[in-house]
Amino acid sequence: MRLSQGHLKLLETCPRQFQYVYLEQLAAPIAADHVKQMIWGNRFHQLLQQRELDLPIAPLVATDPQLAQAFHTFTTTVPDIATPIRPQPGLRESEHERTIEVQGHSLIVIYDLLIADTEQARILDWKTYRRPLSQYRLQQDWQTRLYLWVLAETSTYAPEQLSMTYWFTQGEPEGRPEEPEGSGQEKAVSMEARGGLLADAQRPTPTSVTIAYSAAQHHATTQVLRQLLDRLSHWLDRYRAGEAFPQVAASQNRCHDCHFVTRCQREHTGHPIVLDLDAIAEVPF
Ligand code: SF4
Repeated sequence: MRLSQGHLKLLETCPRQFQYVYLEQLAAPIAADHVKQMIWGNRFHQLLQQRELDLPIAPLVATDPQLAQAFHTFTTTVPDIATPIRPQPGLRESEHERTIEVQGHSLIVIYDLLIADTEQARILDWKTYRRPLSQYRLQQDWQTRLYLWVLAETSTYAPEQLSMTYWFTQGEPEGRPEEPEGSGQEKAVSMEARGGLLADAQRPTPTSVTIAYSAAQHHATTQVLRQLLDRLSHWLDRYRAGEAFPQVAASQNRCHDCHFVTRCQREHTGHPIVLDLDAIAEVPF
């Protein structure tokens, strides 16, 4: 099975939820605010990729001055973007993809930007969360663990030569009024008239968190990953024989905000709410 960090995260959170979402394609509803954040985040990532490829940016931001302002702030603040260096010899590539086969599964990662020279390799990731995550939470996150682990396994770098840096920029401002009806030009004029650029003057400066890597962390991730994949293979065998994936223990108090609470007959643990994407971070595919 092809597995991304999103798969591992959900598998560890609740195997039954993994079954519903990835094996049975049961989509949970997403709040309208979060849909707008996702679209904004995707456009922001696309802009950065265009810039890496030296492709024109202007057409993509012509009708969205807030996005243009945020992009300008980001590209003049983040050193690796403001002053891009292409290592010689080395590698600098956006949307860099790697895959590795482990215990019958394909683990796949896509780095927003990978910069590698003879001394070190750095993974950079862009986040458009409203609130930056803590260093501890990022260290525990499957995105960090899997991204570094795969790079160590698929390169000649020692773990100590690897790092991952998250850059946070606030996404679409909260409470932004609905887009007006009309042409792109009319929308742009209307947004400027409402003080869109002024609002972005208060946009927080992008901040970063860097996670270093080590042989000990690599070993620990190897152990956890192998156990998780062993369990997944076992659960998949049982699933093909008609048995559902196990539910998370009710005592872990995870069901009250899960969309599948009724399907799981866990209503007594609370009320379902719509999925909070801030809580689960972005899933690249
Ligand atoms: S309701 Fe609980 S057991 Fe069921 S999928 Fe959600 S988290 Fe898992």
